[in-house]
Order: sequence, then structure tokens, then C-alpha cells
Amino acid sequence: MDSFKAVKSNFFSSLVTSENGYQSPMVIAGPCSAETEQQVFDTVKQITERTGRVSMIRAGIWKPRTRPNTFEGVGPVGLPWVVNAGKTFGLPVCVEVANPLHVELCLKMGIDVLWIGARTTVSPFIIQEIAESLKGVDIPLMVKNPVNPDLDLWLGAVERFRNVGIEKIAVIHRGFSTYEKTIYRNPPMWEIPIELRRRHPEIPVIVDPSHMGGARELIKPLSQQAMDMGFDGLMIETHHNPDMAWSDAKQQLTPDALANVLSALVVRQPNVMQDEYAPLSELRARVDRIDDYIIELMGERMGISEEIGKFKKEHRLAIHQASRWSHIVGRALQKGKNTNLSEDFILKVFQQIHNESIRHQSLKLNQNGNHTVE
Ligand code: PEP
Ligand code: MN
Repeated sequence: MDSFKAVKSNFFSSLVTSENGYQSPMVIAGPCSAETEQQVFDTVKQITERTGRVSMIRAGIWKPRTRPNTFEGVGPVGLPWVVNAGKTFGLPVCVEVANPLHVELCLKMGIDVLWIGARTTVSPFIIQEIAESLKGVDIPLMVKNPVNPDLDLWLGAVERFRNVGIEKIAVIHRGFSTYEKTIYRNPPMWEIPIELRRRHPEIPVIVDPSHMGGARELIKPLSQQAMDMGFDGLMIETHHNPDMAWSDAKQQLTPDALANVLSALVVRQPNVMQDEYAPLSELRARVDRIDDYIIELMGERMGISEEIGKFKKEHRLAIHQASRWSHIVGRALQKGKNTNLSEDFILKVFQQIHNESIRHQSLKLNQNGNHTVE
């Protein structure tokens, strides 16, 4: 793909050239966490047999969990499981490292590629420490975006690794954390990796639809969106028995489901996509994001309407109060004028919102029906 053309010498480009039999995009698959030797072996075996086109195996050994006393990874005992499975099935393997000790253990065990997790990329101190532990080491590295949508922080981490001589660098886009509830675990905010690629076309961008979507059914559409925007690879969490996974069970695919996602992918002509259609996909992704917000916000608004309904019931107030309604419409029309929305549009939208709001309030008001509307 385009960014690979610029870096023919990059390790990551070798994972998608036809010489080694892999097709673009580069696909990294494997469990969120290594759990047992058998689980790693079975998962890698099935991935290899069912898909025939995965370029690298992933597995988490140390897991950055939100809360203590949850499964925090098997630790160093899992490293040989991953290395051996990779050797048996002829695939390179990658593991997340979050401190210099992790780096040392991975290098000692012969892990092929390291990645930096989103919670680590946020901290320049720890990134600097990890970078120093890699001085003079020639190993490919992937840097996930920080949890917060900060492109400079992401690129700052890349720069720290480049400064110690790491040349084989890719980034992984796994979406960004938000307080807003959306359908995504970490909304993609595609404009950020797009800007990263504009500034650094030489860095391969791998998209992680598992952590972005947080749900199995979102992996296929997100993977396709990543292809539509001409990104270079996918990292997809895959487990031989996802329902029983010790971490991230909801977002892991079976090897068969992975094969299905990969065979359904439409991979666009990268140069055509980048030059002509990528802006359209980017705009559509932004529209989808805003539509998601609108729906979430409407839901939140109707929740408040129900609270109001409850209050009115307790205080024997009528649902429809004409003065309040004209105040709402007046405000909306004024705001609409400032944002270039027609009067007709605002009136129609608010009529619908008002109807839905009355429906929600009535639900509360008529609950256990002691009071009548006055
Ligand atoms: C992971 O890849 O399992 C992981 C912990 O991801 P992230 O750092 O993107 O949250
Ligand atoms: Mn995970």
C-alpha cells in the first residue's frame, strides 16, 4: 500500500509483500491474553488453518486492567508459549511491553516484535524509560495511540523511539477514550490517524477494530472502514473460545469468524482511495459519529423528560405547559438562526422532539396511575 512504498526496507512492509505469500492488508491476530499453553497453541493453530493469511500473532502477557483484582496477565511464564506457537506455525509474534523489565524478558525469550499499549503511550516518562531500554536493539515496534485523542503525544512517543535508533516503527490506531456513551468502546476519530499519515506517510498504520469497537459485530464494519481509508493493516483479537476468554471476551472473534471478516474485506486500490475517495470516507465517518452522538443525546434528553414526568406527577402538574413550549421553540429558532438552520427545519425537529418527550413524560405520569393530568 502507499505508505509501504515509501519504506521498502521496513520490516512491516515485508509482511504484506507477495514474495512471502501474504496479501495486503497485513493482519495481526491472536488472543487478548495468553491464558494457558494449550489456549495459545490451539488459537494459533486454528488461525493459521482457517485463515491462511495472517502475518503475525499477538498475545498479551501483562494486561493493563482498569481495576485491580482482575486478571492481569499470566506474566513471563506465557512468553515461551507464544514463542513456541509462532515457531510451530511459522509466524512472527508480538507482545505488549509496558516497562524496561518487560522489554528485557521479551528480548531474552526471542519475541519478534514489541508493541506499546495505549495506557503507556500517554506517559512520556515511561516511554522514555522503555526507549532507553531499547537503545542499540534492532527490533520492530508498534506504538498504539494514547487513550486520549492527542496526535502530538502519539507522535512524541514515536519520536522518542526513533531517537534511540528504533527504525522499524508502525503505529496502531485503537480509537480514543471518551466520557460520552457511543456505540464504540473507543470512538475511531479517523481524522487523527489521517492527519498522522499526512504528516508521516512513511509510518504504516494498523487499525485495531477490537479495542475500537469493543464488540464482535463492530469488527467487520470497522475493518472495512479501515480499508476504505487505505490504512495498512489490522490487529484483530482472536481466541479459540472467545466466550470463555479471561479478558476482553466481548470483542474477540473465533478463528472462523476472523476468516469470514477477512474474506469479506474489499481492499481498495490504495492510490485511488487515498487520492480520490479517502476524503469521502473520512467525511462519512465524521457524519456517522455525529449521528451517533445525536441519538445518544436524544436518549439522554428523554431520560430527563421522564424525570420531569415523575416530578409533575408528584406535584400534580400538567404535562403540557404552553409557556414552557413556546420558550423551547423560541430558543431553538434563535440558535438555529445562528447556525444557519432553517426555521422550517427547526420547527419540524422540535415538534418531533416535543412529541417524543410527552410520550416519555406520560409513561411516568401514568405509572401506577394515582394522579390524573390536570
Ligand atoms: C490490548 O491490545 O490487549 C490492549 C490492552 O490494548 P490497548 O492498549 O489498546 O487498550
Ligand atoms: Mn484486549
